[in-house]
Amino acid sequence: MKLAILVLSAFAMTMAAQSKPAADLIVTNANVWTGDDAHPKAQAVAVIGQRIVAVGSNAEIASWRGSNTKLIDAKGKLLLPGFNDSHVHFVDGGRQLDSVQLNDVTNTDELVRRIGEQAKKTPKGEWIQNGDWDETKWSPPNLPTKEMIDPVTPDNPVLLSRYDGHSVLANSLALKLAGITAQTPDPPGGTIVRDAQGNPTGDLKDAAEGLAFKVVPPLTHDQRMRAIKRALEHAASVGVTSVQHMSADYEDISAYAELLQDGELTTRIYAAPLIETVDDLAKVGVRHAFGGPYLRVGAVKGFADGSLGSRTAYFFEPFSDEPNNHGLLASDMQPLSLMRDRMMTADAAGIQICTHAIGDQAISIILDLYTDVVKAHHGAERRFRIEHAQHMAEKDFARFAQLDVIASMQPYHAIDDGRWAEARIGHDRASRTYAFRTFLNHGVHLAFGTDWDVAPLNPMLGVYAAVTRATLDGKNPNGWFPEQKLTVAEAVHAYTMGSAYAEFQEKEKGSITAGKLADMVLVSNDIFSIDPTKIRDVKVLKTIVGGKVIWDPTRKVPYSTAY
Ligand SMILES: [Zn+2]
Repeated sequence: MKLAILVLSAFAMTMAAQSKPAADLIVTNANVWTGDDAHPKAQAVAVIGQRIVAVGSNAEIASWRGSNTKLIDAKGKLLLPGFNDSHVHFVDGGRQLDSVQLNDVTNTDELVRRIGEQAKKTPKGEWIQNGDWDETKWSPPNLPTKEMIDPVTPDNPVLLSRYDGHSVLANSLALKLAGITAQTPDPPGGTIVRDAQGNPTGDLKDAAEGLAFKVVPPLTHDQRMRAIKRALEHAASVGVTSVQHMSADYEDISAYAELLQDGELTTRIYAAPLIETVDDLAKVGVRHAFGGPYLRVGAVKGFADGSLGSRTAYFFEPFSDEPNNHGLLASDMQPLSLMRDRMMTADAAGIQICTHAIGDQAISIILDLYTDVVKAHHGAERRFRIEHAQHMAEKDFARFAQLDVIASMQPYHAIDDGRWAEARIGHDRASRTYAFRTFLNHGVHLAFGTDWDVAPLNPMLGVYAAVTRATLDGKNPNGWFPEQKLTVAEAVHAYTMGSAYAEFQEKEKGSITAGKLADMVLVSNDIFSIDPTKIRDVKVLKTIVGGKVIWDPTRKVPYSTAY
């Protein structure tokens, strides 16, 4: 590290002596939080091309100014490294922006009304999807049924997702097209919810969703491109400069490549297709983080279990409010040897493994499998990941650290699930839920994100959630299990350097450091000094990716014409 600084400053001095090149962009008068331990604070940043060339005082950086340098006067506002969301469903997120919005619905009449409105503006026969409903927001918190929505959706098949993606609501037309009847058996890892007579209610959980999704026509290229463009624009508006797209389709990667070629990809992407496709990736020969600064591949995403909300997360002990149920292993894990074989294939090919695991037993089994992989292949820096790592068994924190598994977590889920998690799993297990502090104490790498469209993409909500742990229902103003709160600096670090590490890019991004990519975000308030409850209201003033301003609400910069 020291050597690098010496070389850089020697380089800078040589360049100064020979009249150094002028910066393309200078941000001056900023309150720069660099995220770089060597120089934590600064006032100004100079950029040439895609990269930061100098970080320092206003006076130091002024020497980089030339006649064509674009100058941004930050007026004392806080400049942060661009946020890197370690877990998104980017295309679903973009689609969701244009779909019926059900997440804030607090009664079923309103649910039905909004679905009916959507049906009126949807062409006959076209599927109505997404929605992100959440039955815990109405009372009694019963799952919605096909009988509720059939009258308002006579001409459209409906397949509306629960906000966590682990349950969908189908109407009768969708069930008919999918051929799901009272006689259809539950698939492994899934549940067709049934009424007292054994008839499907319309709710399909986890693997049972696949029975219906398989008859939904795939996205057209135009639909996919529109969704991605909406997602790029939204990411820019909330200061997200990199995303790690979990469960990406090959068509998504191809669409990103097309946008990249056309100069329209303004968010950096690391795409992780499903682990069931691992043979393809292994054949092509791409290794972890293969690609360029805007588009990388070389990771796969598998599923160990479901979600707490759908009672499909896999626990050692039953749910406190459902004594005969301790969750479901995902179809990827049935049998376990299937997952082990795929992991072995991935690891032998140098592909990074990301596994969704929420319940304590699911996490434990994945740590066992990761141990098997290390034993079989030795050596190599693999940076295994567990996505969510939501409910930990006490004994597994140390193993997590020993195996150097990255905990890729979504703090917003903590203030959302925290509303009802204790009723489902009891106090003791809840105390190890989203255990940010315990992970850090064990030396585990944290990477933060949102799981968008499961939670909002706005990183300020994530930082707010990690710092306050104040549940959305207002019932825990001092924090739900407050001992697990993080400082603002720790939360931002997990969301920048932590996420960069999770995609092998900590030398390229994650801090405002000379030599790194110029991805930065200027925000309306100093999140390190304001009342933490106000962090959620902080707005993005400018988003800069690769030295280009891609978001500026005062100039209404569209994503495709960055300045
Ligand atoms: Zn996800």
